Amino acid sequence: MSTVSEGSTRLILATRNAHKVSELRAILGAAGLDVELVGADAYPEVPDVRETGVTFAENALLKAHALARATGFPAVADDSGLSVDVLGGAPGIFSARWAGRHGDDQANLDLLLAQLGDIAPPHRAAHFACAAALALPDGTERVVEGQLRGTLRFEPVGTHGFGYDPILQPDGYQVTCAELTPDQKNAISHRGQAFRALLPLLRDLLG
Ligand code: IMP
Repeated sequence: MSTVSEGSTRLILATRNAHKVSELRAILGAAGLDVELVGADAYPEVPDVRETGVTFAENALLKAHALARATGFPAVADDSGLSVDVLGGAPGIFSARWAGRHGDDQANLDLLLAQLGDIAPPHRAAHFACAAALALPDGTERVVEGQLRGTLRFEPVGTHGFGYDPILQPDGYQVTCAELTPDQKNAISHRGQAFRALLPLLRDLLG
């Protein structure tokens, strides 16, 4: 396996989102893992991967394998979204483009609230889900998942976070995810859980 100088292993996080890179870097650092984490921005020549999978895990694996193959280094990727019980798990893998245009968080959130307008609180259960995949250049792969369960509000509340954060109130909390600080959210989030679940696998596979 390829390594960088002084024995620390380079690990690629298959995202151009700097927040995700910092979040995983902090988790790796806290766990004492001697890994040099870099985002996909360090490899501008590698094209974005089409997310053709039908589950979070498939899409995370597609992205991790593509980066590991292209760079020759182990790669981690995550894929996440919101699953609403009464919608049979939707928006799910379509969370980022639920209203039609990829990444229009406000339109996605407005459409979902309108769809659920007549649904009473006991039936508004939902969860954020995240799959985190690890792929090695030799094709070895692992995937782990995290979930944050809660209830959907009728109106958005809070200014932190992104996406559907202002409408998901985690179980056991009286506030939405958008009212939590980034540290508070990372401690309970689907992505934080999935990234932390990767730690023993990274220790095993990267030595
Ligand atoms: P991605 O896989 O991280 O790009 O997330 C896909 C979509 O799922 C985002 O565009 C958001 O709509 C939604 N999503 C994923 N994680 C979160 C979260 O932590 N808070 C709010 N929305 C999220």
